[in-house]
Amino acid sequence: MAYVGVDSAGHSVANRNMMADVVTISDVQVILTQPGSSRLVIVRVLTSEPGLYGLGCATFTQRTFAVQAAIERHLKPFLIGRDVDRIEELWQMSMVHGYWRNGPVLNNAISGVDQALWDIKGKRAGMPVYQLLGGKVREAAAVYVHADGSDPQAVADDAQSLVEQGYRHVRVQMGGYGGPVSGMHRPKDPPDGNYFDPRSYSRAMLEMIDHVRGRLDVSIELLHDVHERLHPIDAVQFAKDVEPYRLFFLEDPLAPEDIGWFNTIRQQTATPLAMGELFNNPHEWRPLITRQLIDFVRMHVSQIGGITPARKVAEFADTFGIRTAWHGPSDTSPIGHAANLHLDVWAPNFGIQEWYRPAEVEYEMFPGMPRVEDGYLYPNDQPGLGIEIDEGLAAKFPVDEIVEQWTQTRLPDGGPARP
Ligand code: MG
Repeated sequence: MAYVGVDSAGHSVANRNMMADVVTISDVQVILTQPGSSRLVIVRVLTSEPGLYGLGCATFTQRTFAVQAAIERHLKPFLIGRDVDRIEELWQMSMVHGYWRNGPVLNNAISGVDQALWDIKGKRAGMPVYQLLGGKVREAAAVYVHADGSDPQAVADDAQSLVEQGYRHVRVQMGGYGGPVSGMHRPKDPPDGNYFDPRSYSRAMLEMIDHVRGRLDVSIELLHDVHERLHPIDAVQFAKDVEPYRLFFLEDPLAPEDIGWFNTIRQQTATPLAMGELFNNPHEWRPLITRQLIDFVRMHVSQIGGITPARKVAEFADTFGIRTAWHGPSDTSPIGHAANLHLDVWAPNFGIQEWYRPAEVEYEMFPGMPRVEDGYLYPNDQPGLGIEIDEGLAAKFPVDEIVEQWTQTRLPDGGPARP
């Protein structure tokens, strides 16, 4: 900025104007709401400029109150008075400010602020966030949705109805993630829980996928989510067994703790592999990308810290020929889905976007929420993330405080299993 002169108080006029341009964080608020089954954590960052604020997703639905405390008690005191434009610096400092880092609670808290700052920057620029990233390379994001049922015929019927609604990519599950419980051989007096038999799961899923593949047109892409539930060597066998069905991808065949087994899977099958919704730390995805052991990165964007790190992951993956498939279930808030979509339409290596078919009340609560038409999710062209929240409506759907049941997964003998 050119030096202009000094005012009557002896201050540089140019400096004074520059200072007036700085917009700072004046408050960081947490909004909890539960319009459906998932407890959502929304962050609103308010600024020194009247009426200017941003929204972000910090949803970690199983640890809602821990994220709320991390934001209100730890991040907010650090952030008040900071320059809203310095997104990268604030992200870096937020990550190291607590010294211990890369955990799911803190990463989600940082994401809520990070996405809100991108929203603010877009509003200040008068541009959608995808413009700030580099602009669109596509008009819309192809999505996949979930079909389910209690038997192969029911899954195929559900998948066919989704195809008739315009979807071209369908994830097929049977009995949720666990497969059929009936006939499971259990000891007497089994404890409560969500039971799962990995061996019968593998057999039942192959039968289901075979049936569905035979029922749907060959142009419809099928996906399946193992949800990290198999023992590693059984995952190797399963990935080989589904190869003839030419899945679009096999999702999370291994748990994060077992990623060393990807090399074994890769050597034995061309089944496309997607991985990452439980990842928190760059050490988890870096070896899979650099060794080209997976085909899609599908991290939960708020779980890795927001748009700032997700943009870097996408570019890093692109140089290795790996595509994006960001996690997009009902426990990503509509704000988070909007953030996913801005990344999707920008990233040259976009692969697919998971979509959860929100209820109508969520469209009312989050004006601007993107909609699917004929299998494609379209962004709007509003500045920032292009989505708002009706706080009055959100307050009518308070979060519950139940102890989550579905994550209490057990093997047939009652031993704990990964959910
Ligand atoms: Mg999944």
